[in-house]
Amino acid sequence: AAVIVAIDGPAGTGKSSTSKAVAGKLGLGYLDTGAQYRAITWWMLTNGIDVNDPVAVADACAKPVIISGTDPAAPTITVDGADAAGPIRSAEVTAAVSAVSAVPEVRAAITDLQRSIAAEAPLGIVVEGRDIGITVLPDADLKIFLTASAEARAARRNGELKGKEAGDLAATREALIKRDAADSSRKTSPLAKADDAVEVDTTDLTLDQVIECVVTLIEG
Ligand code: C5P
Repeated sequence: AAVIVAIDGPAGTGKSSTSKAVAGKLGLGYLDTGAQYRAITWWMLTNGIDVNDPVAVADACAKPVIISGTDPAAPTITVDGADAAGPIRSAEVTAAVSAVSAVPEVRAAITDLQRSIAAEAPLGIVVEGRDIGITVLPDADLKIFLTASAEARAARRNGELKGKEAGDLAATREALIKRDAADSSRKTSPLAKADDAVEVDTTDLTLDQVIECVVTLIEG
């Protein structure tokens, strides 16, 4: 039977790197649900929708067609056929995504999309996000909740942004904390650990150690 793995946690805990590597090792699909929320946010920004107006966002959110490619070696995301992989990582999208993803109509649409992608994965899939274990795939075979100290998360995120938009560490840390607070306090499907999720604190672990830990949990 197909194996469904849910990996949740705040930004900068290594969810994407871990999920991609685990899916690659085990021959599973990979879905980055944050990329879908970023894609819808990018569409709102480029189409002149006020991202701080939940009614406007709700009215528009069914319009963009978002398609995710689930090969862990080369994940893709398109919006209305256009490659969105680059623009969804911009600072503008990162700053706006929590407001857009808090709108219940946005979550309902993206959740439906995520469930159909998971249902169609032939051997199974690793799905990473914030609400996968509790809301999107509550019957997942394995649920992981990754955590790390704010310092470690900010340092990793700054490393990823290096050369592009890396600011100082303190600014990155503040932005991460602000986004996590917004994601954790929204009314619909907040960022939270499922009761039956295994919590892994990655603060003092290398990426390889985290990957090994998750693979062992899946195979065990
Ligand atoms: O994982 P990433 O940092 O790309 O996620 C971007 C944003 O998308 C999060 O800050 C959150 O607002 C939203 N998100 C969500 N639910 C998910 C995944 C991401 O609300 N399952």
